[in-house]
Amino acid sequence: MKPLLTGMLPKELSQYLNIKPSFRGNQIFEWIHRGITSFTDMTNLPLELRETLKEKTILTSEVSKEELSDDGTAKITLKLQDNSYIESVLLVDENERKTACLSSQAGCAMGCTFCKTATMGLIRNLDAGEIVEQFLHLQSRYGNISNIVFMGMGEPMANLTEVMKSIEILHHPKGQNIGHRRITVSTSGITEKIKELADTGIPVRLAVSLISADEKIRAELMPVAGKETLKNLKASLVYFQEKAKKRITMEYVLMAGINDKREDAIKLRHFTHNLKTIVNIIPWNPVDDLPYREPDDKTVESFITMLEELSITVTKRYRKGRSVNGACGQLAVLQNSPDSPDSGRA
Ligand code: SF4
Repeated sequence: MKPLLTGMLPKELSQYLNIKPSFRGNQIFEWIHRGITSFTDMTNLPLELRETLKEKTILTSEVSKEELSDDGTAKITLKLQDNSYIESVLLVDENERKTACLSSQAGCAMGCTFCKTATMGLIRNLDAGEIVEQFLHLQSRYGNISNIVFMGMGEPMANLTEVMKSIEILHHPKGQNIGHRRITVSTSGITEKIKELADTGIPVRLAVSLISADEKIRAELMPVAGKETLKNLKASLVYFQEKAKKRITMEYVLMAGINDKREDAIKLRHFTHNLKTIVNIIPWNPVDDLPYREPDDKTVESFITMLEELSITVTKRYRKGRSVNGACGQLAVLQNSPDSPDSGRA
């Protein structure tokens, strides 16, 4: 694979491209993050240098498909240089704030039974540059993005080094300058990595796909739970909170008849006791061939009321992006299948 210039900080660009003085690295970094994709257009570089660099590739990925939903959500499918495909989503909230939902892996190995990405299996980890490129493609199409969530394809904690490098790049003041508080890293609950993230001291937000606070139900839905008990998960979250002093988001995908009863709410209360959390209720988004049912509005509202009565802070994620299969748990590109963007099927 070609080295990715989009995965480099200014100093690394100077070193890799072997250019002096070193401030040229800053200039190139700034151009890349302004969306310039050719060295020829970097007008503050000397002409000779532009000529030398003009054959270098800046973006290694290309948008092979773009889908827009009525609610403003956009989903793009990217073809990577090894012909892997990934998806990224742009979400727009009621205040017109734009959030990039980025993938950290092509596919995912975690096998959550309610998630379409799991059906792909893991193809590979993404390089930091491939993560940054998702952001650049989204921003060039839809305008300034203020927030990032690592909730696309993949388990970010299973590719934490590259995810953290991409955060360093996207946070850099000469580039996108996205504040750490505006970046959320999600996980299905890899406890050692949650502690590792806390130890970095980088103040990003953490979201955990809890899904159920019942050990048996969680283990059925999330194979990771077979290795990571709720007790261990809680201990890692306490550790994170003591270090990061931040509220943790608990993602709770609500599935009809699975985790929507009063006893589920009570177990959730016990799990979140002593933690500063907000529980995000995400009504399950339908995925073909998966054996779950979407909860109706009455069930969702009544579960939220139960949580509020138990003094749990709760929000509900709106069903955004469903018409383009871009909602939570719906991302997947099945390679060499009728769903593959190259197959010509919409
Ligand atoms: S929910 Fe997240 S961790 Fe689980 S399979 Fe889907 S992408 Fe992977």
